[in-house]
Amino acid sequence: MVTQEKLSIALEQTRQNNWDKANELLAGFGIEYVSCANKDLKYINLGDTYDQTICQEINTVNQPLLFIGSWGDWYEETAREYCEVKNVVRCGYCSEFTPMNERNWQDVVCENCGNLVAG
Ligand SMILES: [Zn+2]
Repeated sequence: MVTQEKLSIALEQTRQNNWDKANELLAGFGIEYVSCANKDLKYINLGDTYDQTICQEINTVNQPLLFIGSWGDWYEETAREYCEVKNVVRCGYCSEFTPMNERNWQDVVCENCGNLVAG
């Protein structure tokens, strides 16, 4: 379990672009990347999807956003936002986004795989 204090120090390190040092400090497994809905996240892999770690949203029009959080939460939040803005649902079968063209999302057939998005 990484302490809040260590995370704060690591966050300071990444602010100065010392990601390797921060990874070392947190005894992480390295710097990794994950993408969701045209957004990319850089984070220090601590082993678990919902571990509190150092994350940075990259390739955004906004200032790169550096924060303490989990990549799992970021992923879910990003997918939820995308669904709201684009009026799409995420397919439970293939994980692709598909238009929300039915009244109930459970009735939506995925354009990508042809299965019901409810999975
Ligand atoms: Zn699908």
